[in-house]
Amino acid sequence: MSKTLASYYQQAYACEQHNFNRCFYCGCEATERDHCPPLHMLQSIIDLGEEAEFISIPACYECHAILHNERLMTIDERFTKLKNKLGSKYAKPLRVYNMWHENELSDMSDEFAHSIKAGMVLGKEAAERLAFSGFSYATEEAKVTVREKTAEFDVEGVIFTDFKEALNHCIGVLKVQKSDFYKILVEDYQGDFNKALSQYRHRHDKVTAAKDGNCLIKDFAKLHKQNSDFVTRTVKHFITKDPSLTTEAALEQLYNNYIKK
Ligand SMILES: [Zn+2]
Repeated sequence: MSKTLASYYQQAYACEQHNFNRCFYCGCEATERDHCPPLHMLQSIIDLGEEAEFISIPACYECHAILHNERLMTIDERFTKLKNKLGSKYAKPLRVYNMWHENELSDMSDEFAHSIKAGMVLGKEAAERLAFSGFSYATEEAKVTVREKTAEFDVEGVIFTDFKEALNHCIGVLKVQKSDFYKILVEDYQGDFNKALSQYRHRHDKVTAAKDGNCLIKDFAKLHKQNSDFVTRTVKHFITKDPSLTTEAALEQLYNNYIKK
């Protein structure tokens, strides 16, 4: 790559001293520079006349490698992409870190406790890197880009700055079942607590409603000395014919049609 191409980029530097030599994306020690967009794509981007920020910014070895083949033209897009890929790469240790507490390990076998502990350490590090919000930076043209984004997690109006604390609030106060909820939160809704809670409740209510329906059928079968398979099948049949029927209404219909003398 010729020098003329590299000169397309403005070099960005952290404005504050405590961020010097830190990776913009995760806060680890920076050993590379991430080019936005990547240097090896520059020629085609110029040829196609595509818009881009043309900035290079300090990055650690791992973040640099993760973003190397991402054709993303702005620092913000690269930042978001990095967090998503880092989250997927460390999904397992993050899950261990978020779901376990040190005090649960005493009852485990040494071997198991040891592997959970190792996962927690790795997961904690990944969680800190994910939570790193970047820093304000200046380019040679003295253009300053201010970033004050601290990660915030809104849980039905209660604001947390730490993901694990927000999760513990859902488990401890809102009484969600932790592994079900975690799966919905991380895999389906990328950490959006409010969407995940609404989906969790939606599913949970359906399960509860189905359970209540089964109880009603059992009680009904017992009371009227009917075979419960017959009652289940008939209720299903009525509900298929008229989806607006509740289990109770279907049972009433069954009673009127087949049992009442
Ligand atoms: Zn990094």
